[in-house]
Amino acid sequence: MNGKVYLVGAGPGAPDLLTLRAARLLESADIVFYDALVHPQTLALAKGAAKIAVGKRCGRHSTAQKFINKRLVDAAAKFEVVVRLKGGDPMLFGRAQEEIDALRVAGIEFEVVPGVTAASAASADLRVSLTQRGRARHVCFVTPRVGKDEPDNDWPDSVNAADTAVLYMGAGLADSIAATLIARGRDAGTPVALVENASLPERRILFGALRDLPRLARETGVGPAVIVLGEVLREAAEFDARMAVSELLRRA
Ligand code: SAH
Repeated sequence: MNGKVYLVGAGPGAPDLLTLRAARLLESADIVFYDALVHPQTLALAKGAAKIAVGKRCGRHSTAQKFINKRLVDAAAKFEVVVRLKGGDPMLFGRAQEEIDALRVAGIEFEVVPGVTAASAASADLRVSLTQRGRARHVCFVTPRVGKDEPDNDWPDSVNAADTAVLYMGAGLADSIAATLIARGRDAGTPVALVENASLPERRILFGALRDLPRLARETGVGPAVIVLGEVLREAAEFDARMAVSELLRRA
């Protein structure tokens, strides 16, 4: 059997933010290896498939990447349609390249199906465009998280150079993110938003200034969250602050 492996983006959470191509592939899949953040309704589209959780979430048990690569290669020898279902877009912060490299080395046919990434879902929930004419022409997707034995990089310089930045896997590092960016020259008053569970009914959006980021992060729960930073957020953050004040006055 010469099966084909599809690296498929499941989108940010909401099951209806899935591409039609992804839905069709799930319907025809023989086996699905899925991430922790994939919605149960999305997974349910794979009616005839064996479903294998290989999710990685910080601090919890996860399957080693090498083992996932091997399972994909092995599955292609046994099944026709193998789906590797990954949160958001598979090609952003999803270790897709390691899977692609393993499939290439093994000579297995594969295809990538893009998905809606968390940054897009967050900007939609914020109702703030990440780029704005005359104000923001440079968006940076970054993660401050460094894996074991991985060299560090200059993410703070990238964030500070960008008009708008979206930080993935950063909510747990909010204290050091804020301190580092400010120490490297970013205005402590730069507007930020923390968006937890973007696209889902339980989403939470917290606005503030960069100096408030540690507090905002403490106020969020355990759901996946991105930090958005930049002047594009200024009006939305001010509007949010005004609404909070009028809510306080209303309750008083
Ligand atoms: N490939 C994924 C990212 C995987 S890394 C994508 O394109 O979105 C996992 C990180 O993505 C989380 O730590 C969080 O920063 C972000 N993330 C994923 N789903 C999210 C959601 N619904 N809301 C906010 N952030 C999310």
